[in-house]
Amino acid sequence: MSFTFEPIGIIHSCFKEKFGIPRQSGLIPEAEGQLEILPPYNRPEAFVELQSYSHLWISFIFHQAMRDAWRPSVRPPRLGGNRRVGVFASRSPFRPNPLGLSVVELQGVEQQGEQIVLQLGGIDLLDGTPVIDIKPYVPYCDAIPGARSGFAPEPPGAPIELTFAPQAEATLAQLPPQQAEQLRRLIQRILEIDPRPAYHRNSVKRRDYGMRLYDFNIRWQVDAETVTLTRIEAFQEEPV
Ligand code: SAH
Repeated sequence: MSFTFEPIGIIHSCFKEKFGIPRQSGLIPEAEGQLEILPPYNRPEAFVELQSYSHLWISFIFHQAMRDAWRPSVRPPRLGGNRRVGVFASRSPFRPNPLGLSVVELQGVEQQGEQIVLQLGGIDLLDGTPVIDIKPYVPYCDAIPGARSGFAPEPPGAPIELTFAPQAEATLAQLPPQQAEQLRRLIQRILEIDPRPAYHRNSVKRRDYGMRLYDFNIRWQVDAETVTLTRIEAFQEEPV
């Protein structure tokens, strides 16, 4: 049996590359994006009453995690990247069918003519992610207090001492204050969750990292216990 699905929408995300994206939804409320509904699904009737829900389930395709062969076990970063668990006991993007499921905050539904755009918060989705379904999050049946949660019982991360170097502060100072504040908080949260590969975590060696957020290249340095945001630069496409 095989089935073919068409995306009903596409994600526009602050996360322009995979590195640095939180490993679950809801971890970073400041991580915002838009879900643009594609024709022929951009029918206002299909969204009546959606706004009465605060959160949604988004089913999507891990379109940048497609592999020819699937592996029955994976090494989750939460286990330090060196213990294997079954792929079906994990939320890894690398699975037989590359389908993802995220609970996100619905911040608004915008309709303008043929355009329907859902404003989302708390996303863990890459820019360009194809969405195949939307369902309301219904706490009376979807939230299960006391549910057991295997090897990932607690949210990841811990507060860090993050310093913004003068170059990074200078870029922030050129932005409208609200945008600068949002970007600063988003960066702080991403680095608290710590996107580094597990085998870098206990290393004392100073290392540089980078990611693209919105239209900025962000660079930071981790040195034993200190984290420094070294640069924030406007992203420029490579000349062709
Ligand atoms: N909440 C989802 C996703 C968990 S995996 C679920 O449980 O199914 C989260 C990771 O998926 C992120 O850290 C990011 O690196 C990766 N990711 C997000 N969107 C992706 C995409 N479109 N293609 C490939 N990987 C993606």
